[in-house]
Amino acid sequence: MSSNHSADYDVIAVGAGFAGISLSYHLREAGFNVKVFDRASDVGGTWAWNKYPGAATDSESYYYCFSFSKEVLQEWSWSKRYSGWEETQNYLKFVMDKFSLWPMFQLSTEVESAEFDNETGLWNVRTQGGETHTAKYFISAMGMISQPVLPNIPGQDRFAGPIFHSSRWPEGLDVAGKRVGIIGAGATTVQMLPEVAKTAAQVTVFQRTPNFVLPAMQKDMTPEWEKEIKDNYDEIIAKARNHMFGMAFEQPPGRNAVDTPPEEVQRIFEEHWNGSFRWVFETFDDLLGSAEANQMASDFITSKIKEKVDDPELAELLTPKGYPLFAKRPPLDHGYYETFNRDNVKLVDIKDREPIQEITETGIQTTENLYEFDIIVLATGFQAYTGALEAIDIRGSDGHTLREKWEDESKSIMGVYAAGYPNFFMITGPQAPFANLPTSIEQNVAYITDCLQKMESEGYDFFQPSQEAEDEWSAHTAEIHEQTLMAQGDKVNSWMMGANLEQRKPRVLVYFGGAHIYYDKLRESADGGFPELAFSKSAA
Ligand code: NAP
Repeated sequence: MSSNHSADYDVIAVGAGFAGISLSYHLREAGFNVKVFDRASDVGGTWAWNKYPGAATDSESYYYCFSFSKEVLQEWSWSKRYSGWEETQNYLKFVMDKFSLWPMFQLSTEVESAEFDNETGLWNVRTQGGETHTAKYFISAMGMISQPVLPNIPGQDRFAGPIFHSSRWPEGLDVAGKRVGIIGAGATTVQMLPEVAKTAAQVTVFQRTPNFVLPAMQKDMTPEWEKEIKDNYDEIIAKARNHMFGMAFEQPPGRNAVDTPPEEVQRIFEEHWNGSFRWVFETFDDLLGSAEANQMASDFITSKIKEKVDDPELAELLTPKGYPLFAKRPPLDHGYYETFNRDNVKLVDIKDREPIQEITETGIQTTENLYEFDIIVLATGFQAYTGALEAIDIRGSDGHTLREKWEDESKSIMGVYAAGYPNFFMITGPQAPFANLPTSIEQNVAYITDCLQKMESEGYDFFQPSQEAEDEWSAHTAEIHEQTLMAQGDKVNSWMMGANLEQRKPRVLVYFGGAHIYYDKLRESADGGFPELAFSKSAA
């Protein structure tokens, strides 16, 4: 390998969401020449695509944001506890403007392939328009959940009206007065249904697996609350950095449900039923580790479903069964259950009662009925963690794509490096934690920046991630995964195990050892000189 060739850029990254924006800022500050491509026509990543009615953050916005600029933390005002897609996208544009990041971004540009060239030691990055750009480093900032999964239901092309994946909501499409069919009952549908039902003539949700839906309890920001947040930002950011899911939550309460008298358990559950995932982490420490404690939590959530849904038969259909809380990622509720009390909303059980047979010209045909619609939304989820990385031909030093590498297992080193892929980084790739993403992104970006600075200051041309380190991280991740109730996700098609993909076997995709511990491990690696990497110079 030789790197005596000049590259167009030091770094090419793909993805103009939180990850690409954070990366471009930090690398530019460190003196690197960066280009960021994104196929979307605007910045925002997730928030440039997911524009369905009701799309909003599930983390509270005041910590679902960047922490690197104290000025931005003080200058920006969130209007709600959880902001909608538009407000989050506007926030990202505000950051782009403030730090003059736009010149580094080339939007409406889809990257088709990225190949490491052993001759030049550079990455050749080809866009769909046929241009090829070269860079010493190639970085994925494509996000964990961006590649849509379409259902394998015959007849989709026959439907006469609009039919689309939830993350591709057609601009300007209005559901007012329309009959809408939604396939899927995950986090997207849970957010979308209450909004769509407000104006649609009729909405039908086709549900296979019911979810444990926790309350969001949306509320407006008040001047007093905003002041309290802004006066305490250092503490809030530290809380997120030190939390097992990267959330600015209180530390674990230091008690287990299994050791607490049942009445006290109920009292604590009720007292903390104030919205967000806090309920899981601020009540008891054993809800995700002990089957018995998890059952208590599941029963409590189930009792709330029954309180909210008027029709007991419908409540029963909406009640998750046979799997623990968190085996699937729980959605947050903005009036989801109550929406089923409306006359214009219907639930169809496509698992046990009437499976979908096909999509026809006029609607959805199940084994029992033909449901006629004007619009069909496929809220059928995403190929999480690996989907975007596999959609591009990313070829390492042996010419293999990541898609080929990950056919059976999706191994990585800390979700950042892949063995066989020199000078390549992933931000929150497979086997990184599932956490509040801006927190994880910032930790990843700081780590990547340190690595690039070491490469340049010590005059290295390449690093090759070690196979041994990858095997070790994967084995460690799998061992932890096995000890959690999340390992039951394969029973219920959880995307957290890639079990929502028909053509693939389930796998360990998430490091559940605690995001805060993972961030410590990143720091240890950087402080230790990146022992997972073999550094070399082309002359060597
Ligand atoms: P999802 O949770 O994977 O849900 C997909 C739904 O589609 C499931 O109900 C699934 O049923 C159903 N489905 C899939 N294939 C089907 C088929 N062939 N026939 C019938 N039903 C089918 O996807 P999502 O709702 O888009 O959410 C994915 C993740 O994105 C979330 O968990 C979350 O992390 C993220 N998200 C975040 C936010 C936010 O933070 N604001 C909002 C939306 C999404 P089964 O369960 O039976 O497989």
